[in-house]
Amino acid sequence: MNQKTLLLIIAVFLSYNLWAQNKEIIATMDSQTAAHYKNSHPSEIDIVKTSNGISAVLLTEKMTQILRMESPVHGPQFMVAKSLQEASAVLNFSPKENQVQNFTITEPGLVYDFLDAVSQTHIENTILDLQNYGTRYHTKSQATQSVLDLKQKWDTMILASSRTDISTRLVTHAGSPMPSLILTIEGNSEPSEYVIIGGHIDSISWNNDDAPGADDNASGIASLTEIVRVLLENKYQPSKTVEVMAYAAEEIGLVGSAEIAADYKSNNVNVVSYLQLDMTGYNGSVEDVYILDDWYSSSALNQFLASLMDTYNSSGAHQFTYGFSQCGYACSDHASWALNGYPASMPFEAKLGEDNPFIHTPDDLFSVIQNGEHAVKFTKLGLQYIVEAAKGQKLNTSDFIQDKLTIYQRNHMLFYRFSGDDAIETIAMYDMNGRKIRTFGSVQEGFISIENIQQGIYVVVFNTITSQQLMKKILIY
Ligand SMILES: [Zn+2]
Repeated sequence: MNQKTLLLIIAVFLSYNLWAQNKEIIATMDSQTAAHYKNSHPSEIDIVKTSNGISAVLLTEKMTQILRMESPVHGPQFMVAKSLQEASAVLNFSPKENQVQNFTITEPGLVYDFLDAVSQTHIENTILDLQNYGTRYHTKSQATQSVLDLKQKWDTMILASSRTDISTRLVTHAGSPMPSLILTIEGNSEPSEYVIIGGHIDSISWNNDDAPGADDNASGIASLTEIVRVLLENKYQPSKTVEVMAYAAEEIGLVGSAEIAADYKSNNVNVVSYLQLDMTGYNGSVEDVYILDDWYSSSALNQFLASLMDTYNSSGAHQFTYGFSQCGYACSDHASWALNGYPASMPFEAKLGEDNPFIHTPDDLFSVIQNGEHAVKFTKLGLQYIVEAAKGQKLNTSDFIQDKLTIYQRNHMLFYRFSGDDAIETIAMYDMNGRKIRTFGSVQEGFISIENIQQGIYVVVFNTITSQQLMKKILIY
């Protein structure tokens, strides 16, 4: 070997090392986690700035792999940012900035029809279809193919429904060769307000040629696909625009959802609420559904989810239970929406640490979750969420007899008059979280006292003796 060759080899070796240690990935993560890894892997991570318990960091590719593999929770422990400026915006994020919709629960007729239509078999078939790609790791051709095939599956349902107000589109990404998929049902009276539900379709494993991702997250995509089927087969028409999203590249740092949520924010899209379904298949805890209440989740939306389950799932054929848990920093795509200022939540399959232990391995298979029974509950919750969140502000139940009811307030009294043949039997008042706050029986006299009820917006439900329901939204002042 001559000296020139030796120098060349040294140069190549040095540049390889420089490349290997190049901390070129900008991300945000929990500041305690960042400090821990700065201590254990000082050459793989730089902490640029810390604020509000979050750090903007620079990571090597190797560090991202370590973070993913050592993650005690579902997500990769970090969220990729396009620039330090974008990362700084995350540091300055305050959940209080999130706008909050007034959520009510007023559509039991529609909701129960949809819940009855949910098919466990359909969910199981979709999970198996997705598992059969072998891998959906974002750089693999199978990942892109799975998105194209899902588009075709959703398009076939749209075609069968003969609807022109429903469409799908692929979204390409700067940070991944894999596209995301979005289905849109245009709102028929408030189309500029968006109610969105989503989950990631990519997978990951220590062997990325063998990443079946049955629970993580074929189960969530199967729940979403069943939601689409039920909505379309039942000719559902929302007042607000409803979107269903299947994301690319969640597993490498929420890349697909981060690009989409940032795009919606920069176009001033009014997303009134976002729900994430990521892992719905494995039944590992005492309760069925765990609402994640990490700081970036919307507490108003979480309360709404709890109220939905109190209303629709506390007894009967659609009964299941829920609790609360946490999942750590940016554990799934809902964080992308939350960090862009949108109210976002995620109901999860189990309590922290009791979820599927085989995810991110070649053993994340349908045989572990055995059936689609658990995923059915999340499908139902998703339907409840869409119907109640995407309805119009104008109450549309019994509109034709609604006109016969007149109400007015004076001196802490609510007066009402009903001009139909029917008569009012009982009255109930609900707050904007759908919680019943008061019931009035024997109310033929034409007024009720609203003294000692806090100022705010309420829904008053009048039940007639022939079992008709009339609803009025009122402002108590
Ligand atoms: Zn996942």
